[in-house]
Amino acid sequence: MSKLNKVVLITGGSRSIGAACAILTAEQGYKVCVNFANDENAALGVVKKIKDLGSNAIAVRGDVANEADIKNLFAETKSRLGPLTALINNAGILSKEGRLDTFSAERIARVVGVNVTGSILCAREAVLAMSTRHGGTGGSIINLSSIAATLGAPGVYVDYAATKGAIDTFTLGLAREVANEGIRVNGVRPGIIDTDIHASGGSPNRVEEMKHVVPMQRGGTAMEVAETVLWLMSDKASYVTGAMVDVSGGR
Ligand code: NAP
Repeated sequence: MSKLNKVVLITGGSRSIGAACAILTAEQGYKVCVNFANDENAALGVVKKIKDLGSNAIAVRGDVANEADIKNLFAETKSRLGPLTALINNAGILSKEGRLDTFSAERIARVVGVNVTGSILCAREAVLAMSTRHGGTGGSIINLSSIAATLGAPGVYVDYAATKGAIDTFTLGLAREVANEGIRVNGVRPGIIDTDIHASGGSPNRVEEMKHVVPMQRGGTAMEVAETVLWLMSDKASYVTGAMVDVSGGR
């Protein structure tokens, strides 16, 4: 694929893992749609960095739990950057750490809405845009899961862990569904990565507090996750689909 024709949409691209993916994809010649939910300034900062790298980027607000926002996100990407060739389904949320017996229905619905429904709806739009069955030229979808899918996250956020288990199963199913339509679908399971997400769970120092349970005895960086995402998207992984790659320091 010509460098000029590569277009990626990154949900939650305004900070942390999503922003690292935005910078690395831009370095590989992608034009980048940086989606964000709230912090426009952060998204515009990522767009500026990409433009400084000599590529093109746009920032588009949208809540991935909202279907109309998703449709607008994909329409803006197509009209302003060109036909989509990759989706990084990165936006994901935690809620406050605790036991299940303290969780409200609203909290659970929001976590499922963003992490599961949002990712599945974004993948649907990407399939409609990229599948050869729909006149597209193929592409790649990367889903951000979590090592929590394999651990269950007891006592902190079993609802979040369950959403990531759903992402693992969805990745496998969709990969097989569109394997003959030019689209590869893979997932990454980060472990404890040093980002802002832990503050939203009420533990801004979670990396420091938990690093002793990681065989490598440290947290990972957003860039270490992004490098794996980029490899899975690249032609170097041309026979890889339906795979989940753990980026978790051995945990
Ligand atoms: P983060 O630092 O909290 O950043 C989240 C990003 O998603 C922000 O850009 C945020 O934008 C955006 N976002 C949040 N809710 C959104 C919504 N409803 N619609 C659209 N965008 C939304 O998160 P992170 O640590 O980079 O995590 C990224 C992904 O990796 C998530 O799926 C997460 O579950 C997964 N993961 C992370 C870790 C870790 O240790 N960090 C471990 C395992 C898996 P605004 O700032 O504008 O709201």
